[in-house]
Amino acid sequence: MIQVNDNFRHLPVSYLFSEVARRINAFKSEHPSTEVVRMDIGDVTRPLFPSVVKAMHEAVDELGSSSRFHGYGPEQGYPFLREAIAAHDYHGRGIDINPSDIFISDGAKSDLGNLGDVYSRDCKVAIMNPAYPVYVDDSVIDGRAGVFHDGRWSDILYLDCDPDNHFMPMLPTGRADVIFLCFPNNPTGEGISKRELKRWVDYAREKGNLIIYDSAYEAFVREDGIVRSIYEIEGAEEVAIEIRSFSKTAGFTGLRCGYTVVPSALKGRYANGEEVALRTLWNRRQTTKFNGASYISQRAAAAVYTPEGLEDVKRNTDYYMRNAEIIRDTFRKIGFRAYGGENSPYVWATSGDGRDSWELFTFFLENFGFSTTPGSGFGSKGEGYVRLTGFNSRENTEKGMSRLLERMK
Ligand SMILES: *Cc1c(COP(=O)(O)O)cnc(C)c1O
Repeated sequence: MIQVNDNFRHLPVSYLFSEVARRINAFKSEHPSTEVVRMDIGDVTRPLFPSVVKAMHEAVDELGSSSRFHGYGPEQGYPFLREAIAAHDYHGRGIDINPSDIFISDGAKSDLGNLGDVYSRDCKVAIMNPAYPVYVDDSVIDGRAGVFHDGRWSDILYLDCDPDNHFMPMLPTGRADVIFLCFPNNPTGEGISKRELKRWVDYAREKGNLIIYDSAYEAFVREDGIVRSIYEIEGAEEVAIEIRSFSKTAGFTGLRCGYTVVPSALKGRYANGEEVALRTLWNRRQTTKFNGASYISQRAAAAVYTPEGLEDVKRNTDYYMRNAEIIRDTFRKIGFRAYGGENSPYVWATSGDGRDSWELFTFFLENFGFSTTPGSGFGSKGEGYVRLTGFNSRENTEKGMSRLLERMK
């Protein structure tokens, strides 16, 4: 037998979401008459926009036509989409990003892991705590995490976030090479101000760090002064990679399309000291290991940038945001501390009375028939919290929240 990648042995046994699903199913089989309202889902529920569906139909017809057929596309993505992204998401907001620095992907999750090919195995990784579990798990698989002890990996530098720092991590006190930041944040729901993010960009420039900035939720930003793109901060193009997705913005979780910006100005060094643009390495990595996102999903993504598509993005994200607001307000009414929901579809809530995340999960499931995501699944600093999402229908959101209000009276 061959020897396998030993890092997998160290990964946590059960992925958070499968354990949640298992417990919900167990509850359902014991209480067949209770309809469980899913407030834990990290998946969207509203369908693709009509303009997107139309663009896909046209793309399918092209692929089925001998004169308009497309085979392999550019590994980096089609120019029509890279240009639409540059024009709307960057130039339209006063940010100078070249379409050739935009790489189309099949979604943010793949690129978050794939970027690990570009920086050295020896890089020390800093990750917010709590965080989207993928950053930690990718680091474990790549052998950058060390050993797990007392809820923490020995080689990961944790950037703790709690109400005391308004869920804004403090700058690292120890060595960090690659810093993962996610804003608006999953799970805490908090957005970051320009002033706050500038501290990180300045720090990374001074120390020579790489920031991997996950802005999967930028379309949910509503407040002025809250950052959508890290490139709003001067000098960020020399230290930051930005990862985005059409998943939450436009309902592409099943369709799959996203993009990663690796600015040409972002440089690193080989072991021999020679300088190289990270874009060069990423381009080499992608052309070697990736054959591009599907033509159909790239045509679909381009339709998001039509006037009709942009209106639908606004309407769609507004809908989820209203759900989040209902959830947050209800949780505050029953005496919980609830955060987020202003620039993101997530609400992060705690009873503040010492109950742990799984106790809260069980409390809401068994007494009110709705599910939450235990905060402890996002890291040790998530203990005592649950995450709720606005990604449900308005009816279901209201159903879940009214059960809570009525019976807590
Ligand atoms: C949902 C999510 C992603 C993954 O998006 P895909 O494009 O569907 O892979 C990435 N980052 C965060 C923080 C997310 O919540």
